[in-house]
Amino acid sequence: QVVTRFAPSPTGFLHIGGARTALFNWLYARGRGGKFLLRIEDTDRERSTPEATEAILKGLDWLGLDHDGDVISQFENAARHTEVAQQLLAEGKAYKCFATQDEIQAFRDAARAEGKSTLYRSPWRDAAPETHPDAPYVVRIKAPQGGETVIRDQVQGDVTIRNDQLDDMVLLRSDGTPVYMLAVVVDDHDMGVTHVIRGDDHLNNAARQMMIYDAMGWDVPVWAHIPLIHGPDGKKLSKRHGALGVDEYQKMGYPAAGMRNYLARLGWSHGDDEFFTDDQAKEWFDLGGIGKSPARFDFKKLENLSGQHIAASDDAALLHELQAFLAATGEPALSDDKVVVLRKAMYCLKTGAKTFPQLIEKAEFALADRPIQPDEKAAKNLDDVSRSILMELTPHLQNASWSRDDLEGVANQFAEARDMKFGKLAGPLRAALAGRAATPSVFDMMLVLGREETIARLTDAAG
Ligand code: GLU
Repeated sequence: QVVTRFAPSPTGFLHIGGARTALFNWLYARGRGGKFLLRIEDTDRERSTPEATEAILKGLDWLGLDHDGDVISQFENAARHTEVAQQLLAEGKAYKCFATQDEIQAFRDAARAEGKSTLYRSPWRDAAPETHPDAPYVVRIKAPQGGETVIRDQVQGDVTIRNDQLDDMVLLRSDGTPVYMLAVVVDDHDMGVTHVIRGDDHLNNAARQMMIYDAMGWDVPVWAHIPLIHGPDGKKLSKRHGALGVDEYQKMGYPAAGMRNYLARLGWSHGDDEFFTDDQAKEWFDLGGIGKSPARFDFKKLENLSGQHIAASDDAALLHELQAFLAATGEPALSDDKVVVLRKAMYCLKTGAKTFPQLIEKAEFALADRPIQPDEKAAKNLDDVSRSILMELTPHLQNASWSRDDLEGVANQFAEARDMKFGKLAGPLRAALAGRAATPSVFDMMLVLGREETIARLTDAAG
């Protein structure tokens, strides 16, 4: 069974790169009937905060990336990490190193002076236990000597590291606490992780982590180190280019499905497919489709996909997400009757809106209360002539059956009889019904508002 994990360090918000890493792991597991686990890497007690953990959980929740099992705290597993180091020590695969900081520094200075590698080689590696002083020590792993380590990476291909570039890495510090590199390997092993999909800034760590897998005789997981996300200019992603917390994208009004679709395409491709559903993404996602070069963040693409997902959404679900958007941005909740009207209006709001703010703008006619206050542009469509036209038209509409066909019929007939283009009628109607010049179609607005409200607004405007 496939087991993936997302292992963020809780030192800040869930940024866009982390969200994409989480998504890739989620898609890979979900498409294969596997498990997607969540581990908070909170061993750095100084930089880890509960607020950051909270923000990460909230971000994942918004994105709809549900995980299996409990949220695991790496810090809480410290005893187990120590136990593994002790086991390696007992088996002679690790050793106690009593070198002081000064001695290590002196070693490095001498190596540098001679133009040799400054990787520390401890004289304690092969020292007999009888020679051990009663002094503080760290526990170091015995790195392989000679030969090479090959990281068989599903994205980067085979990455070969000469073993003489690996040092006897510290596993336990002198205060007995386990180091991060050990914690990651032990946790991944204990959690049964089969595939490690993460940023390629961790590629070098993989070689060092493999030393621990090998020493413990554990199976190395499948590695997939994905290139980081760059800005549109090809440089490191900056704030201006989208290096924001996912909560910022929620507040900008992108629907989660659009965000998932966009993030999936950010560094992964499936032929020419741009727009796809979650089910398609789960079915299609594979490590082979991950690109080797950094993806570039592109707001235009995000907007386009976002708009397509809004248009494709189920009305009720979309309304629900719109309400969550309002809550996330601190807007007051919609009253019950506005919810009813919006639910009715959703079918005509969702086409052409790329974000929730755009959708709300289109919904203005449904959200506004009488008397409708026309904005400057709309007011121009309510001059004396227009008002008298509305006055004349209203009784005709009053008698319509309130089906789209009938409403269209009445309006067209009215216009024809007066040798008037329908467009001449539309402006005043928009102004009267919505107080705006740009609105959904006048017939959609009438259908959504209903006879009574429509007639009342027309009468207000005409009077
Ligand atoms: N905690 C690491 C990070 O936030 C991830 C480590 C890993 O995935 O192995 O970058």
